[in-house]
Amino acid sequence: MSPHAVTNHVLDVIIVGAGIAGLAAALAIHGAGHHVTIVEGASVLREIGAGVLISSNATRELIRWDLEDDLRVLIVQSRVSRVLRWDDGKVLSEVKMDPSFALKKYNAPVWMLHRADLHTAMLKKVQSLGIEIKLGSRVLNADVDEASVTLASGEVLRCDFIVGADGVRSKMRDIISQEPVPALPTGDYAFQFALEIGEYKNDPVIAPLVEGHAATAWWGPGRHVIGTLLRGESLFNCVAVFPDDGSLGDEHKQLGADVDELRRNFSDCVRSILFHADPSSIVKWKLQDLDPLEFWHRGHAVLIGDACHPMLPYLAQGASQAIEDGAVLAQCLAHLPLDRVGSAFQDLRFSRATQIQQNARKQKTENHYPDGPEQQARDERLKDPTQVRAWQWEPVVGKPNKTWSDGLFGYDSQVEFEEYLKEHDAGRRNVKQTVRL
Ligand SMILES: Cc1cc2nc3c(=O)[nH]c(=O)nc-3n(C[C@H](O)[C@H](O)[C@H](O)COP(=O)(O)OP(=O)(O)OC[C@H]3O[C@@H](n4cnc5c(N)ncnc54)[C@H](O)[C@@H]3O)c2cc1C
Repeated sequence: MSPHAVTNHVLDVIIVGAGIAGLAAALAIHGAGHHVTIVEGASVLREIGAGVLISSNATRELIRWDLEDDLRVLIVQSRVSRVLRWDDGKVLSEVKMDPSFALKKYNAPVWMLHRADLHTAMLKKVQSLGIEIKLGSRVLNADVDEASVTLASGEVLRCDFIVGADGVRSKMRDIISQEPVPALPTGDYAFQFALEIGEYKNDPVIAPLVEGHAATAWWGPGRHVIGTLLRGESLFNCVAVFPDDGSLGDEHKQLGADVDELRRNFSDCVRSILFHADPSSIVKWKLQDLDPLEFWHRGHAVLIGDACHPMLPYLAQGASQAIEDGAVLAQCLAHLPLDRVGSAFQDLRFSRATQIQQNARKQKTENHYPDGPEQQARDERLKDPTQVRAWQWEPVVGKPNKTWSDGLFGYDSQVEFEEYLKEHDAGRRNVKQTVRL
C-alpha cells in the first residue's frame, strides 16, 4: 500500500481485543496510516474456535491486506453442500458448488478456514507490520471523552481513538452504553471437535462424509450438527448445537465433554460421528446473542464485531462481518474528522449488520423446527435451492434492490464508503487524518 494524499494528522488508535475483529481493524487502520496499539486481556492467544466460512464480502478485504498467500494452503472450498435429517440421515438437499462461482460473480472467493488458522495468519501479519500487541492487558475502564483506557494493572494508556473489539461479553460496550449490557443466552450450547482425516481414511462413517469435498449438516428439532473439512482438508471439524440444560452455570466455555450428554442429545445416526471425538478435546460453549444496540459509539470510541452485533452461527457471518467492520472503520478514520467517525461508522454498518443478525435468528428457527407441518414445508423448500434464503434487504431510497446473496456477498467496503461520502459530502470539509490507499 503506497501513501496517498497524506495530510497532517496521524492518530493514535487503541484497539481493545485481539480477536478477528480487533486484528482486522488493526490491519485496516494501520493501512490507513494511523498508529495502532492492541490491548488484549489474555496473556496467551490460544488456538481456539471452529470452522469459519469467510465469504466474498470479507475475502475481498483479506486479499487487500495481503493475506491470500499466507492462507492458500489452509483454505478449503467445498464442492458439495448437503443437509440431512438428524435421525435417519435422509438427504434433504444436496447442492453442487462451483468453487470459482463466487470469484466470477462477486470478484472474490469463498474460503472455509479454521478460526485458529485465520487468526494466526492475521496475527503474523499484524506483527510483521510492527503493530504492538500488549498481551495480559485487560481493560477495566475507559474514558471515551479523553480517549484513554485503564488496564487491570492500573496503567492508563492515552490515545486519540478507542476501538472496542472485545467480543460478545464486551466491557467497552458497558462503558459506551453507560450501563451494563450483558449478552443474552440463546438457549443453546455448541460442542466442537476436529478429527485428523489421515486417521479416518478407511473409517466407514467418516470417510464417506468427506468424499468429494463435502460439507454436511444434520438438522433436527432444536439441534443441528455441521461437519466440514478444514486446514487444507486435513481435518474434519464438527460443531453440534443443542439446547442449553444449564450445566455450564455462569461459565462461558469448558474444555471436555460428558459423553452421556451427546448420547442424550443426538440420534444414533449423528452419535456415530460424535463418538469419534476424544471427550477431553471437545470444546463446549454457550452461544450468546444481543438485541440491536442503540449506540455503537460515544465520544472517541466505537464498538465493532461481536461487541456490538454478535451473529448466531446459522448464516456463518460473524467473522466476515467483523472483517467488514474493520475495513469500514479504517475508511472512516482515514477520510472523516474524528468527531464524525463513530456516527458515520454506525450509519454505514448498523442496518446491514442488524438485518444479517435478524436473518441468522430466522435461520435458527428454520433449521431447528420440531417435526411437523413447518418442518415438512421447510424440507419441501430445501428441494429447490432458489427457495432457500429468499429474503429481501430493506429497501433504501435511491438505491436498486439487490437479492439477498448479491447484497451480502457483493458488498465492498470501499464502494460503500465512497457512496456514503458522496451522500454526505459536507463532512469532508475538515478531513485531517492521514490517508493511504
Ligand atoms: C459456534 C460458532 C460458530 C461460528 N461460525 C462462524 C462462521 O462459520 N463464520 C463466521 O464468519 N463466524 C462464525 N462465528 C463467529 C465468529 O467466530 C465471531 O463472530 C468473530 O470471530 C468475531 O469475533 P470478535 O473478534 O468480535 O470477538 P472475539 O473473537 O470474542 O474476540 C474478542 C477478544 O477480546 C478480548 N477481550 C475481551 N474482553 C477484553 C478486555 N476487557 N480487555 C482486553 N481484551 C479483552 C478477548 O480475550 C478476545 O481475544 C461462529 C461463532 C460460534 C460461537
